[in-house]
Amino acid sequence: MAWHYRLKCIGCGAEFPPNTIIYKCSSCGELLSVEYNNDLMSPEISLRWASRPLTVWRYIELLPISDSSKMVSLGEGGTSLNRCVRLGCELNLKNLYVKNEGENPTGSFKDRGMTVGVTKALELDMKRVACASTGNTSASLAAYAAKAGLECIVLIPSGKVAFGKLVQAIIHGARVIQVKGNFDEALRIVEELCLTQPIYLLNSINPYRLEGQKTIAFEIWDQMGHKVPDKVIVPVGNAGNISAIWKGFKELYMAGLIEKLPEMIGIQSEGAAPIANFIKGGLKEMRFVERPETIATAIRIGSPVNWKKAVKAIKESGGLAETVSDEEILSAQALLARREGIFVEPASAAAIAGLIKLADMKLIDRDETVVCILTGHGLKDPDIVLRQFPKPVEIEADLEALIKIFAS
Ligand SMILES: *Cc1c(COP(=O)(O)O)cnc(C)c1O
Ligand SMILES: [Zn+2]
Repeated sequence: MAWHYRLKCIGCGAEFPPNTIIYKCSSCGELLSVEYNNDLMSPEISLRWASRPLTVWRYIELLPISDSSKMVSLGEGGTSLNRCVRLGCELNLKNLYVKNEGENPTGSFKDRGMTVGVTKALELDMKRVACASTGNTSASLAAYAAKAGLECIVLIPSGKVAFGKLVQAIIHGARVIQVKGNFDEALRIVEELCLTQPIYLLNSINPYRLEGQKTIAFEIWDQMGHKVPDKVIVPVGNAGNISAIWKGFKELYMAGLIEKLPEMIGIQSEGAAPIANFIKGGLKEMRFVERPETIATAIRIGSPVNWKKAVKAIKESGGLAETVSDEEILSAQALLARREGIFVEPASAAAIAGLIKLADMKLIDRDETVVCILTGHGLKDPDIVLRQFPKPVEIEADLEALIKIFAS
């Protein structure tokens, strides 16, 4: 059987046949990327897309799956692209949009990656899947593993996972293991586990998972009437998503479906900002953050495994990286909720906080089209919100008491 794609090392360019269980290049140790055969890269690739529903699988010609009968799907993708008139007005931006990834089945964009990754696990005949997670990856993997009938193992940093996400992993029947350490440490040991045992690793070092996530770019292109925005703003943790979205836009470009590419803007929390510090500071060497800290737990990552892919995405696209404080994140979260009716978790609000900061710095033009990627749903982490607001007033159950409230 002829494959329509192959795995290619991002460092030395070595190629590996698909359907080998491999996460890093066997000669130089760098990450791998999925590359499609050249003959696919023409506008004809999109001919059948329009007749299919807007989901991850609409774009199957550019996904690394050969046998669509094994597809493990919960209806992921097809999230709304909302025009933000009120927030845009406040920031003096005329064409502001947000892509609401919280609408995915388990409430984050991770589902786009897991539908492809878990389908791949079945293709490879794996019986167990695993990941380290700041929360959403485990919630998503647990759900897709349940759907596929696979055993699921998740490692989470002790006490640092938002409650709603932990609950999801538990209800879907994953074996949840708390690691006394941060995400980076949990990832290191789960990676070692999967190299020594027949367990399929579904962190974002898995190149197939990122293929699912690149459909965010395809959908934006579709939803904007086959155009792309000037800027795309993405919160960055392990840096897989910004790399994946950039790859999606580049494939549209290589296929001749678009004539220009958007600038990719990566936003990190001040306490966990190795990539932003590297780019902003023009550093020669990447300096990882030993003890990352931020209320945005989904991006509380000090050693992003995809940092090389992400730095390349940001530089190649002519984009930039910026940091935001926890206070800026929380106020952006509330502002988005009040102006646009969209409730996102803190990591997603980092994109909005970054947008506000860049607009203040006049680094975004009033006429530019900007899309912020809202990565996850606010209900996953409600505690953080309740802690900031006073408890609602309480009254006796009578009309007079109620009227009194409005008089005061
Ligand atoms: C995973 C996640 C991120 C970070 O994505 P990376 O690919 O790790 O950079 C951001 N926001 C939310 C809600 C997430 O779940
Ligand atoms: Zn290599």
